Amino acid sequence: MNCLECYGEITVPNDAIDGELVTCNDCGTSFELDISDAGVRDIKPAETVGEDWGE
Ligand SMILES: [Zn+2]
Repeated sequence: MNCLECYGEITVPNDAIDGELVTCNDCGTSFELDISDAGVRDIKPAETVGEDWGE
C-alpha cells in the first residue's frame, strides 16, 4: 500500500478492518481503509473536520 500524497510505504495490518485509519510514516497523512466485500484493500483520504479541501 502506498501513500497517495508522497507514495511512501504504508503498512496495513493483516487484521485491519474497513474504515480503519492508517497514517503514512513519511508525511503523516491519515487515510481511511476501504476494504471491499471481495477483500480488496484500498485507501482514501480520511475525513477531516473543519477543513475545506475544495476541488
Ligand atoms: Zn505519505
